[in-house]
Amino acid sequence: MSTIVKLLIEQFGKESVLTHEEAGLRVASNWTHKGNLDCLALLRPKTTKEVSEMLKICNDLDQPVVPQGGLTNVVGGVITKPTEIALSLERMNKIEEINAQNKTVTVQAGVVLQTLQTSLAENGFLFPLDLGAKGSCMIGGNIASNAGGLQALRYGVTRNLVLGLEVVLADGTIISSMNKMMKNNAGYDLKQLFIGSEGTLGVITRAILKMEDLPKSRNTAFVAVESFEKTIRLLQYAKKYLKNHLTSFELLWQDYYGLMTLPPSPYSPPLPQTYPFYVLMEALGQDAASDKILFDEFLESHLEDGLIADAAIAQSQHELDWFWKIRENVELIFSVHDPVFLFDVSLAISDMDGYIKKIRSELQKIWHDLRFYTFGHMGDGNLHLYISCGRNDNDTKQLVEEMVYKPLQQIGGSVTGEHGIGLDKRQWLHLSRTAEEIQLMKAIKKVLDPKGILNPGKLLT
Ligand SMILES: Cc1cc2nc3c(=O)[nH]c(=O)nc-3n(C[C@H](O)[C@H](O)[C@H](O)COP(=O)(O)OP(=O)(O)OC[C@H]3O[C@@H](n4cnc5c(N)ncnc54)[C@H](O)[C@@H]3O)c2cc1C
Repeated sequence: MSTIVKLLIEQFGKESVLTHEEAGLRVASNWTHKGNLDCLALLRPKTTKEVSEMLKICNDLDQPVVPQGGLTNVVGGVITKPTEIALSLERMNKIEEINAQNKTVTVQAGVVLQTLQTSLAENGFLFPLDLGAKGSCMIGGNIASNAGGLQALRYGVTRNLVLGLEVVLADGTIISSMNKMMKNNAGYDLKQLFIGSEGTLGVITRAILKMEDLPKSRNTAFVAVESFEKTIRLLQYAKKYLKNHLTSFELLWQDYYGLMTLPPSPYSPPLPQTYPFYVLMEALGQDAASDKILFDEFLESHLEDGLIADAAIAQSQHELDWFWKIRENVELIFSVHDPVFLFDVSLAISDMDGYIKKIRSELQKIWHDLRFYTFGHMGDGNLHLYISCGRNDNDTKQLVEEMVYKPLQQIGGSVTGEHGIGLDKRQWLHLSRTAEEIQLMKAIKKVLDPKGILNPGKLLT
């Protein structure tokens, strides 16, 4: 056993420090479910003080540390080398305070997102971050990746939901920015540096988050649309008519909708599979009766004027779950095709149709049996592409990535709207950020983590 692991066990005990062998019994990823954790040791602190003391020891001994939450990251951000120590926040999992007057909740970083949602719902509140990985991902991981999810259209991304943050720097310094106010202009807003920093600048230990009132109405429909141009108009009208009740506007191209509603998918189609586009739209509100009237009126008027070709409204919890499963059951793609390359690009809504058509046709020229599935958070300008060309070698991966990412630079898009850079997208960061921006990122990293022990090699080269 290495000197540092012995030292850590002596100081914090066996429960807080798992050895290489013990850690190796755990999965390395709750996304791929492939491979076991391969690290020098796994630290499981129970308090911020322990995180600070552990990091101080690691920093003094130049020991690399990989912060870990629920391990649902999809860009290699939580991968460890056998020489690196993993630091999991799983035991810092308390909801410390639900403050109804301020509408804030104070949590430790290891609280699982779904646990927080459930606990707040029991108290009449909503934490409006929602994503497919909610059963595993943790608030610290959500903040470190600035997660977006299914309700960002209305409530914003994680960055917009965080009021205060407590972070431990690489050398063990505790930075407490546990602010509860919406407005605080006393100097730099330091917490913003750590939101979306992918474990490279500090370990997030606690946070103060905004809560909303639990909605009393939920109206959800799948609608079929005959052209992309019509989906843009539908989004504009929905924002105007349903106002801030409009919470999700998820667009599914025919390829994705077809895959999700034909066997081996267990889900039948709520609408025929013949339309080019499908929108899953949802509005949340506080008045069940009038909200339903408003939602139904909106759909009826656009069925009449032809903007909507067909519509199915969820009439029960069962139907609501069914509709959302069609949107969220992305794992199905991996059981049907292997390998699959996954993308989460961001771009202006007006560029989406042209961009998708262009890259699909260019990829098809090379791989005639290409599988290309498109869907995503259209309302947020963020799309997911799942591409399978039957090959998984490095040259193929490189070429597909180049063909997907390079056109984004010309239209001012981003190589990632949600998942972050991690390990997988480092070589493409320069397409979405200027050389000066990357230089400044590196300078900030140097100040906060001069020895480069935190999540080395991720995000920045
Ligand atoms: C089925 C599925 C659906 C998804 N849907 C979405 C979606 O809609 N929107 C979206 O944005 N993402 C989505 N994701 C990606 C992922 O779930 C999110 O990025 C999530 O926020 C990661 O949280 P986690 O706790 O699993 O973090 P992890 O995967 O454990 O870590 C993520 C990153 O944060 C760092 N980190 C973790 N905890 C801390 C901490 N306490 N302090 C500092 N750094 C830390 C890690 O080093 C790593 O770089 C999805 C993933 C899956 C598998």
